[in-house]
Amino acid sequence: MAEREELTWELFGSASRELAQQVADSGYEPDVILSIARGGLFVAGALGYALDVKNLHVMNVEFYTGVGERLELPVMLPPVPNAVDLTGAKVLVADDVADTGATLKLVRDFCADHVADVRCAVVYEKPWSEVKCEYVWRRTDRWINFAWSKQPPVIRREGQVLDA
Ligand code: 5GP
Repeated sequence: MAEREELTWELFGSASRELAQQVADSGYEPDVILSIARGGLFVAGALGYALDVKNLHVMNVEFYTGVGERLELPVMLPPVPNAVDLTGAKVLVADDVADTGATLKLVRDFCADHVADVRCAVVYEKPWSEVKCEYVWRRTDRWINFAWSKQPPVIRREGQVLDA
């Protein structure tokens, strides 16, 4: 078995479509899609089109600094979405993967006080995730190479950490 899971751009096309279908089939009609940058931006954009939701918000959360290397806790980076924009809304949180689930937990807890309902959609979920997402395309216990972060950036910046 391959050491890593590979999500190519082509596979992402069908994965995001199938994920959107799961949301639609469940009857959930989100008012807002909240993406977790940066990987969740791709997922949120694809879900936004497939579910015909134009109201997309972004939260910046930093946790991983390399393959399997992470900070002690995920941290929210500014700008933090205005809670007023989310008040009373049915929110769909979109991310690439729930690994420990700590990032999604932070975002879900942030939403919980304001919103009418919050559910999570991810392309991958790992078995040990502390958040069990309502919508999951695939489950894996391997490290995933995503199409958007597999290659190094085309520029080099001071203090840059590369995803492998
Ligand atoms: P968590 O908070 O669930 O541990 O991880 C959240 C973030 O860590 C993900 O959105 C993703 O950016 C990064 N991450 C976690 N596991 C993987 C993985 O297997 N592959 C890649 N490329 N990133 C990961």
